[in-house]
Amino acid sequence: MGGWAIAVHGGAGVDPNLPLQRQEDAKMLLTRCLDLGIHALRSNSSAIDVVELVVRELETDPLFNSGRGSALTEEGTVEMEASIMDGPKRRCGAVSGLTTVKNPISLARLVMDKSPHSYLAFSGAEKFAREQGVELECNDYFVTEENVGMLELAREANSIWLDYRVPTNEKCSASVETPLQMNGLPISVYAPETVGCVVVDSQGRCAAATSTGGLMNKKIGRIGDSPLIGSGTYACGVCGVSCTGEGEAIIRGTLAREVAAVMEYKGLGLQEAVNYVIEERLDEGKAGLIAVSSNGEVVCGFNTTGMFRGCATEDGFMEVGIWK
Ligand code: ASP
Repeated sequence: MGGWAIAVHGGAGVDPNLPLQRQEDAKMLLTRCLDLGIHALRSNSSAIDVVELVVRELETDPLFNSGRGSALTEEGTVEMEASIMDGPKRRCGAVSGLTTVKNPISLARLVMDKSPHSYLAFSGAEKFAREQGVELECNDYFVTEENVGMLELAREANSIWLDYRVPTNEKCSASVETPLQMNGLPISVYAPETVGCVVVDSQGRCAAATSTGGLMNKKIGRIGDSPLIGSGTYACGVCGVSCTGEGEAIIRGTLAREVAAVMEYKGLGLQEAVNYVIEERLDEGKAGLIAVSSNGEVVCGFNTTGMFRGCATEDGFMEVGIWK
């Protein structure tokens, strides 16, 4: 047994022109969340409790794309989604299409613990939230001014924005050297990103949690990878994984489960498994993931420009980063 380990992410596909202040803000938030998780692990909290705790914190802060600060649909509304998985018994819970729930990850946990099902969506999930008495908020709480501005830009570009908001229009191709402009406005604005946390506790139990508002300007009713067990989130006896990036690509690659599968069936270690999955199962530039193994390893991997991430292990290692 290798002791506990934790990793947290705030999304993959970072704008290369992201203002320095935003980079610092993101790193501070990731550090605060890691500290929260480390403190809980030192107090002997279980992996499943720690991933929920950390993701709640990320959802409550408007900086990343989950809970407050969620990306907006084509109609300017929020449709949040989340999933959580407890490795030892492969228990899981997921929710989609939430419009009022302050902490979607906790509702996913309640689906796992208090419902006969694994996945509830839209009006049924909202009804379950009311029955469970979770904290609710009105639309204005979730919608930030910054996201309203980005939705406008996305609409003008007739584009669904994913990571660093490259419009599908080829005339507007981004590069590090030339900040992307749209209608005279730089779109190197901060772009909201999905959040996730994976933990292995000191008893070797793995858990994973992911929460998101999805993609900016997404269609009403669109469901991404984040609530899909096996795609955006997976945990079992050998590892815990949370993904971020273009949901459609992650779904095609069943990315999170694939990491566990190559460990189980090919006998690869965590680092090799993550490398294999990113190289063999993922289109270039599409996504990233964080993963822990039951023997205390932690790995962050991505093939995007960057990924907001942080990790720590029981032996004192701690790292927070954005770029490769
Ligand atoms: N994977 C998320 C989605 O497609 C987006 C992200 O990770 O930023 O909904």
